[in-house]
Amino acid sequence: MTLHLCLKERFPRLQAGEYFDFARHTTIGCGGTAAAWASPKDGEELALLMDFLKREHIPCCFLGAGANVLPQDGLFDGVVIRFSRMQEFQAERTAVRIGAGVTGGRLLKELEARTLAGAEFLTGIPMTVGGGAAMNAGVKEGHIGDLVESVTCAEAGRTFVLTNKECRFSEKDSIFLQERLAVVSVKLRLKKSFPEEIARRRCYFRLKRSSLPKGRSMGCVFVNPEGRSAGALIDGCGLKGASVGGARVSELHANFIINEGATSSEISALIALVKRRVYEERGILLREEIRRLP
Ligand SMILES: Cc1cc2nc3c(=O)[nH]c(=O)nc-3n(C[C@H](O)[C@H](O)[C@H](O)COP(=O)(O)OP(=O)(O)OC[C@H]3O[C@@H](n4cnc5c(N)ncnc54)[C@H](O)[C@@H]3O)c2cc1C
Repeated sequence: MTLHLCLKERFPRLQAGEYFDFARHTTIGCGGTAAAWASPKDGEELALLMDFLKREHIPCCFLGAGANVLPQDGLFDGVVIRFSRMQEFQAERTAVRIGAGVTGGRLLKELEARTLAGAEFLTGIPMTVGGGAAMNAGVKEGHIGDLVESVTCAEAGRTFVLTNKECRFSEKDSIFLQERLAVVSVKLRLKKSFPEEIARRRCYFRLKRSSLPKGRSMGCVFVNPEGRSAGALIDGCGLKGASVGGARVSELHANFIINEGATSSEISALIALVKRRVYEERGILLREEIRRLP
């Protein structure tokens, strides 16, 4: 029996399907195919699904907007778990609870409509709330973890709530990535403001991003080392424009790799080349910000 039929048999109400094309669902636009995908409706259904997959030794991975991931080439004989049906949005004064599948764009629109401020720095960052929380998305002016009051998450067989401190937010990292917990919803604390002020700040952040490279990418590939810019280090090694197959280091921003028809292996090879050259010439080992899937 195929994997998705096996899921359907065990969970007749679960939204699930056969074959998942990573290239179509990621901003980098490469990678192979997963045998099955599933989109649970809430945390309880997700916890039951994770429990079943664990007991049956079926591998799985989580995918949000696919804006910071490099999927592997070839067949992944497992299940891609999506969060698109988790679209809750509940506001109570300055606190909001948002489902993991809500996009950054919708989040900002809903907050603006309620004149709730504090998250404008997320303007233009491609993300879902779940992926954003897992990656602690942000810019130098702020990170989503700064706004989080608590997160409801799921693991095999149960859902539970973590406080901000328990989420272990740090630079491009959190407990969700470290312990493979699924973010189900996030409670953010914001502040009341004026519509003009929110619009002005969003415009400021939108403008700041207008110079970022266009084309298919994962955003920044490497985390900035303490007090240094990864892009400047890569540029300093003369690597702007360096390429492997269809993967190229952006000429505009050396921390971006642009996919011009590359395979995932070619992108990986270019990442390895950049790391090696920066280490040999500057003695600094760059840490990857992007996440490999599965
Ligand atoms: C053009 C461009 C510009 C970018 N600019 C920025 C920027 O300015 N700042 C910034 O921080 N990032 C930036 N990024 C990277 C990306 O937007 C962020 O990392 C974002 O948080 C990714 O969210 P996502 O939903 O796409 O997560 P995905 O890329 O789908 O997943 C990222 C990781 O989170 C895991 N994950 C996804 N959903 C969940 C969930 N519900 N529960 C648990 N784990 C989950 C995945 O398994 C994966 O390990 C940029 C990317 C692009 C393409």
